[in-house]
Amino acid sequence: MSEQAAGDGGNRPYLGERLRRGELLVSVSPSFSGSYKQARQNVLARLPQARSFVLPGLVGPDDEELSVDVGWIGDPQAACVLVIISGTHGPEGFCGSGIQLDWLALLEASRLPENVALVFVHGLNPHGFAWDRRVTQEGCDLNRNFIDFAAGAPANPGYDELRAHFVPPSLEGPSFEASREAIGKFKQAHGERAFQIARKAGQYTDPGGMFFGGFHRSWSGRTLESIAQEYKLASRKFVAVVDVHTGLGPYGYGELQSEHVAASASQLIADQMFGPSVTSADLGTSTSIPIHGSLQLFWERLLGDGRYLYLCLEYGTFNTEAAQRVLLADQWLHVHGGGDRSGALGREVRGCMRAHFCPDDPSWKEAVLFRGRQVLRQALSGLAQVAEGEFALEGTPRKNGEPAL
Ligand SMILES: [Zn+2]
Repeated sequence: MSEQAAGDGGNRPYLGERLRRGELLVSVSPSFSGSYKQARQNVLARLPQARSFVLPGLVGPDDEELSVDVGWIGDPQAACVLVIISGTHGPEGFCGSGIQLDWLALLEASRLPENVALVFVHGLNPHGFAWDRRVTQEGCDLNRNFIDFAAGAPANPGYDELRAHFVPPSLEGPSFEASREAIGKFKQAHGERAFQIARKAGQYTDPGGMFFGGFHRSWSGRTLESIAQEYKLASRKFVAVVDVHTGLGPYGYGELQSEHVAASASQLIADQMFGPSVTSADLGTSTSIPIHGSLQLFWERLLGDGRYLYLCLEYGTFNTEAAQRVLLADQWLHVHGGGDRSGALGREVRGCMRAHFCPDDPSWKEAVLFRGRQVLRQALSGLAQVAEGEFALEGTPRKNGEPAL
């Protein structure tokens, strides 16, 4: 039966045609923005009560102000809070911002469960978001920056061994080939996982290197502390955090990655709230490896095990080799290429970063919004149960009593 015969009126458009034109992808074009500036404007238009934490002394490519914008929706006294973060890793914010805008539109015509509120944290790393860099203005990977610096930074011997080879002086020719060879030998000797740990787990020695966790808390890290204070998050009964990332995993799939250790109370709650789609780096079921200094440590210090969830909603884009290529070009530009992101090479690198971390493809974006709605719906439903006392929390009390920043 043809599509035409299925309809009972010749004037109706074909269903296939409607879907191809994107008619049913209602949220895709209004949710995804073309620049940081536009994303910020769109979010502020929907969050007139937002508090802006402006980054001093730096601007974006259009001389625009850079800011972390935070909006609270719902009962200010709510016991349970869902925090949705975008832009921890700069241009990955185009995706997270899309989910936030989709939800802000949905919320205009709906209400939240009793005793549950939402906090939108837009552009946690606004400099990286505006300039298409994964790292902050300090060259720091924000999701490696939350170690306890007073206690000393963790070692990464694999990184130390390969440090000269991660960002070679040239992107082609003998030095590039020598670096590829050294990396190949390391993989042969130690395996792919050990290589991933060397490259990505985080390092605290080399500000010009990849996945640098910083020498101290970054501006964005301190801003997150201010946000938690401003909205009294430490005194809530339960806080669930969904931090939206991109660039790892199958194209368009949103993997809900738990950063909790497998034996924790929070992990148990994550499993109950989201079911078997939650993956764990600790258990080896995630595409991600265990990393140093993630935002999870911040929330752990703030609330303690069993009173919070920190989950990364990580959307796949292109494969690992493509990610390595684009991140290498980005880092090379800063270490060996002068760091100008406005010139021809800089614009090209920025374009590659954008295309890698937020593919310009309506189907990818549709998959993002679909999975985003699913995960956030599950989170809200879980939090409603926690608020009503129907969800057993078996958190272990903190050793030193009250939660503290
Ligand atoms: Zn990320």
